[in-house]
Amino acid sequence: MLTDDAIPLQGSSNWRSNLDAMDVPEHISTDSTLSTALRMLIEHGRIDEDIGNRMFSHDSLFALTALANMVKQARFGTNVYFNDNLHVNTTNICVLACRFCAFRKGPRHSDAYELSVEEYIHRIEPYSEVINEVHSVGGLHPSWTIEHYEELYRETKSRFPLIHIKSLTAVELKHIAKRSNLSIHESLRRLIAAGLGSLPGGGAEILVDSVRDRICHGKESSQEYLTIHQAAHELGLPTNCTMLFGTVETTAHRIQHMMKLRNQQDISGGFQCFVPYPYLPEFSRLPDAQLASVNEILRVIAISRLMLDNIPHIKAYRMNIGDDVGCLALQCGADDIDGTVGNEEIMHEAGSTTPLDFNAEDLAGLIYQSNSIPVKRNSIYSEFALIPPPIKNDDISLPIAV
Ligand code: SF4
Repeated sequence: MLTDDAIPLQGSSNWRSNLDAMDVPEHISTDSTLSTALRMLIEHGRIDEDIGNRMFSHDSLFALTALANMVKQARFGTNVYFNDNLHVNTTNICVLACRFCAFRKGPRHSDAYELSVEEYIHRIEPYSEVINEVHSVGGLHPSWTIEHYEELYRETKSRFPLIHIKSLTAVELKHIAKRSNLSIHESLRRLIAAGLGSLPGGGAEILVDSVRDRICHGKESSQEYLTIHQAAHELGLPTNCTMLFGTVETTAHRIQHMMKLRNQQDISGGFQCFVPYPYLPEFSRLPDAQLASVNEILRVIAISRLMLDNIPHIKAYRMNIGDDVGCLALQCGADDIDGTVGNEEIMHEAGSTTPLDFNAEDLAGLIYQSNSIPVKRNSIYSEFALIPPPIKNDDISLPIAV
């Protein structure tokens, strides 16, 4: 393994050479699928669809995650990134009804809400001294147009100029643009001028239209998702990308999804981070879902790291996978973990029990438990700060390493 000194705080651009210099354990070097994948990465090649599919049925999760962890170590050493963020959802009213979604409500539902600009600001206020990002998505509101979002972002930036606004999924943008009779480019231009700093990447689900028809009929098509992100990248707006797995897709669909994102990244280059998360079934409407086990969650994290060589960061989304599996994911290829969060509704409505009262110290403690070094970052991965080790507490239990 490389020493921490060999890896800059922001990660290494020479990761393929770093990988080549590493000792390769026997369970990887003697395995034809994994050793081929390793060679492809070292030699600036691409792991192809066939190898990707073989990794999904590989009989050794241990060897697969070890390879992914090697690549993570070659890029980022023991660094694990996080930011101090707050989730504020703008509304749960939505004109669509995706079958996996436990968050949306119809406008007349007793739990339906829509935050006014002032209410939104009030949600941020208690956290404004500690967070550096507000993460905001919501339903497709039947009457809000671009003016509402412009006012929201302008007012937020004028009250909290140092807080980065990461907001709007691709389908929200499509909806706002349509309701406002604007193109996607023009909508983005206006929202950027109002203070929008990046897009979070939600709503990708599985970028295979036959799957989308079954789980989120009426949402943007696979190509529309990619085109909207390309438009953002063309305007210099960084975005993330996601994958919802464990619904009705096959493992081959997951590989197709990753390959579409990888191709898009070759074209437009603005994806910062890939965030795969499993479907939470408790309160939604997909009885035919093929729920993901812990083995599969870690496998998806590992394969993401190996397939997506041109997307720098792979995130463990603790809101979905919980803190224990999140900790394990940091040893299986993930280099980033979201986040302090403060308030989260979408996954908690679907059954998540991940604690919401984490501060930066708690999160740094969790990262230390995975034998990693916590590095606090800003939203666009351009500023970094090492977090010192927590005071030793004998009561903290360590997760089982894979
Ligand atoms: S996932 Fe988004 S678009 Fe689909 S129903 Fe839920 S809030 Fe609406």
